[in-house]
Amino acid sequence: MSEKSYNPFVNAQAQFDKVAQMIELDEATQALLRQPAMEYHFLIPVRMDDGTTKVFQGYRVQHNDARGPAKGGIRFHPNETADTVRALAMWMTWKCAVVDIPLGGGKGGVVCDPRNLSKNEQERLCRGWVRKVARDVGPDIDVPAPDVMTNAQHMLWMLDEYETIHGGRYPGFITGKPVGMGGSLGRTEATGYGLIYTVREALKEMGIKPEETCASFQGFGNVAQYATELYCKLGGKTIAISCWDNTDKKSYTVKCEDGLDCAKLMAITDAFGSIQKEQAKAIGCEILEGDAWLEQDVDILFPAALESQITIENVHKIKPTVKIIAEGANGPTTPDADEVIKERGIFLIPDFLANAGGVTCSYFEQVQSNSNFYWEKDEVLQKLDAKMTAAFRAVSDLAKKNNLYMRDAAYVISINRVAQAVKMRGWV
Ligand code: GLU
Repeated sequence: MSEKSYNPFVNAQAQFDKVAQMIELDEATQALLRQPAMEYHFLIPVRMDDGTTKVFQGYRVQHNDARGPAKGGIRFHPNETADTVRALAMWMTWKCAVVDIPLGGGKGGVVCDPRNLSKNEQERLCRGWVRKVARDVGPDIDVPAPDVMTNAQHMLWMLDEYETIHGGRYPGFITGKPVGMGGSLGRTEATGYGLIYTVREALKEMGIKPEETCASFQGFGNVAQYATELYCKLGGKTIAISCWDNTDKKSYTVKCEDGLDCAKLMAITDAFGSIQKEQAKAIGCEILEGDAWLEQDVDILFPAALESQITIENVHKIKPTVKIIAEGANGPTTPDADEVIKERGIFLIPDFLANAGGVTCSYFEQVQSNSNFYWEKDEVLQKLDAKMTAAFRAVSDLAKKNNLYMRDAAYVISINRVAQAVKMRGWV
C-alpha cells in the first residue's frame, strides 16, 4: 500500500482526459463522460444480532447508460468512498464498451466489513441496500453484480428483496446469482479465466510459450483463484501470491520457487481470499512480508486485488524479467506508475480489458435469465473466450497500428463507442 494517498476517481478522470484530448473529443461529450450521470448516496440502518442498530453508508453510481442499462458490481469494503464508486462506475462503462456488450457502466458499494458481520446481519444489509434503490435499478435500468467481498448469496438476497418490492420474478435484475437460482454456469470462473485468455493471446503475439513462464499474483480472491488455476493448466508456474491479514492489517506473500499448488492453497483459504499462513508453511511455502509479490523474478505480474497498488513509490521494484502486467483488479496502477511501465516497454493488459470476463459472463447470465433458458458450461466459456479474444486483438491491433500504449488504445476504442452512442441518441 502506498504512503501517498491516491484518489481513484482523479486517476480515472486523468486517464479519460488524456485520451479524450488525443482523439479530439468535442467539449460536450467530454463533459458528459468525465463524470457519472447519476448518483445515489443513502444510509442503511441495520438491526444487529445483539439488538442494537448500526447505520451503514451505501452508494449506487450510474456513470453512463447510452449503450444499454448501467451494469456493475456492489462492493462491501471498510475503505469504500464515493470517489472509489465513481471511478469503478466509470471503468465499467469502458469495460462493457471494449468487449462490445450492450450495457453501460454503474457501481455500488457499502462502507462495511463483512468479515465482522454475521450471516443474518449481511442479509439485512443486502435487503436494506435494495430497499433504498429499488425504483432506480432493474433489468432495463441498472443491473448489479458481485464485486470485492460480495458473493452469490448476497445477490440472491438482493434479488429476493427486489422481487418482493416489485411483486414478480425478475431474475434479470442482478447477476452473479447461484447456479440453479438464475445464475450462469461459468460466472464464478469468468473473470479469472477471461484474464488468462488475454494473457494467452499476449504470449502468442510475443512468441512465448505459457509453459516457459512464471507469475506472481497480488490477491487470492475470486479473480486470482481461477486465473491461477487456468494459467497452471496452460503450463504456467505461479510462484508467489500475496494476501491480506485482516488481524495485523498487513499484507503477506506466500511463495514457492518450484510453483505453488493452487488447489491445495484454495483448500486453506478463507471466503475473503486469505491463505492460512501456518498451513501454507506446513505444505512447504515461505511467507514473505510487504510488497514481495511485486519484487519477484517472474515473467508476468497479476495485480488482482484493489486499486492504487502499483504506484510511483514501488514501481521501481518490478524486476527486469517482467514482460507482461495483466491487471485483474480495477485501477491497480496509478497514472504516475503507468508512465514508468510504458517507458520500460512492459506489455500492459489494462484492467477494463483484462478483467472484462466477469461482466461479459454477467451479460450472458442476464440473457439466460431474461429468456429463462440456461446454457451448458462449455457453451458459456466458448462464448466468453471468443469475446475476450476478439476484444484483446482489436486493442492490440490498434496499439500496434498507431504506436499506442495498450491502456490508451483500449480507451480510444471504448470512448469512441460510447461517444457514438450518446451522439446517435442526440444527447450531445
Ligand atoms: N464487479 C465485476 C467487475 O468489476 C463484475 C461486474 C458485473 O458483472 O456486472 O467487473
